Amino acid sequence: MQSCREVIDLLTEYLEGGLAAEGRRAFDAHMALCPACLEFLESVRKTRAAVSELRSSDLPAEMHRNLRDFLKRNLRAKAKNGRAARRAPRKRSRPS
Ligand SMILES: [Zn+2]
Repeated sequence: MQSCREVIDLLTEYLEGGLAAEGRRAFDAHMALCPACLEFLESVRKTRAAVSELRSSDLPAEMHRNLRDFLKRNLRAKAKNGRAARRAPRKRSRPS
């Protein structure tokens, strides 16, 4: 029997159909005996299905806006930290 670690390493290949028949059999055998890995497999499978169905145009406008704002805030925070760390000179200086 494969260890859980080995099985998890093969998970993506399994889901993408990249495993050989022998590998799939071993994988399925492990899943039949290991509820923890089976649960993990199901959660990954659901997440992948949700992500592949998701298109940015399908997002409700409000969620799209929230996501964009969130990303902007995060990127800005990162840029700020980067500037502070590097002390890069700014071309346009604004009075503070
Ligand atoms: Zn396991």
